[in-house]
Amino acid sequence: MDARDSIVRGDLRISDGRITSIGQTGEAADVTIDARGCAVLPGFVQTHIHLCQTLFRGVADDLSLLDWLKKRVWPMEAAHTAESVRASARLGVAELIKGGTTCALTMETVNHTKEVFRVVDESGFRAIVGKCMMDKGDDVPAALHEETDNSIEESVSLLEAWHGKADGRIGYCFAPRFALSCTSELLAQVAKLARERGVIVHTHASENKNECALVESETGKRNVAYLDSLGLSGPHVVLAHCVHLDAAELETLANTRTNVAHCPSSNLKLGSGIAEITRMLDRDISVSLGADGAACNNRLDMFTEMRTMALLQKALHGPEAVPAKLALRMATLGGAKALGLETQIGSLETGKRADVIVVNLDSLHSAPHERNLVSALVYSAQTADVQSVVIDGEIVMKDRKLLTLDEAAVVADATRESRELIKRAGIVL
Ligand SMILES: [Zn+2]
Repeated sequence: MDARDSIVRGDLRISDGRITSIGQTGEAADVTIDARGCAVLPGFVQTHIHLCQTLFRGVADDLSLLDWLKKRVWPMEAAHTAESVRASARLGVAELIKGGTTCALTMETVNHTKEVFRVVDESGFRAIVGKCMMDKGDDVPAALHEETDNSIEESVSLLEAWHGKADGRIGYCFAPRFALSCTSELLAQVAKLARERGVIVHTHASENKNECALVESETGKRNVAYLDSLGLSGPHVVLAHCVHLDAAELETLANTRTNVAHCPSSNLKLGSGIAEITRMLDRDISVSLGADGAACNNRLDMFTEMRTMALLQKALHGPEAVPAKLALRMATLGGAKALGLETQIGSLETGKRADVIVVNLDSLHSAPHERNLVSALVYSAQTADVQSVVIDGEIVMKDRKLLTLDEAAVVADATRESRELIKRAGIVL
């Protein structure tokens, strides 16, 4: 499927990491992937992920946001070692690739972010990674509490070490956790540095009603208005969630072209609410999709997010809301745009980097699909239907086998590291 949503029959050729032709057939190639019976698509781009939380899957269920953070996620993040972060990132990247996600914007924890960059580098995944910044807040474990200057220094040194690495496949983002975890000094400095350095700011905003009420009582402003007043708005800013916004905040997002990363499964599971995606799209606000972390979803699966997002909007606004074509576009080019990568990835176009997935539609649950390919992809297809994945021209999964990660070792390491981490965190299940 090409950039104009046309369905093209024929070969997709890749050379030196880029797409060199679409639809021509018959030319010989060094390596060939047989995609008969399959759809060939741009890889999914998820704009809100926490790779460091993949080990927490199933350990933080059935809690609301602030309890979920204080009782589970922060103690477990504080208990992370370099080894456990590595195991968590490998598990997350492996799951993402197997489900057809080729690029993610990810917020890590306060410590050991270097390990995540190494995993992204060695796995061939495309990611913009940020160290979580936290210089304030109640009930924050000592290991996660930072001095403002140290937080900024460490972020800048990671940016200098990793931004643009692996031929541009790896990027850095500033990742202040959310307004309640950061001083206004830190947020203002991040706003300034992000503009100077030309990198993304990735944070959470207005996920939960209690969070919004606390921000308002501390700052006298609504959450998005507060962030905007500190310079944290604009086309380089990605705000995860935005579930509880008033009309003025929607206007601010539209006027500043700030990006919303919508995480429907996470919002439902934490009981946070349903974001007003249809109203945002009506105002031309950039909305893309993310699974958030395995601690609150518990899948990292774009098929689930596309379908859930579309179904929720239909329940709110009628069956015409968010048609399948729009959902698929949000999952691909929409994500690329939010990350400022739309000239590089997000659609199949000659000259773009080759981030390509092959999805088998000859399955019981997707048949018949001849006249409704996009419908099959959005409403019927599942992660296990992804046959092959190419990122930056390299085959990272072929016929369901990961080529850059050892799947059995990833699962074994994650299981062992998770067991030890839960013990260190003192969590009794
Ligand atoms: Zn999150």
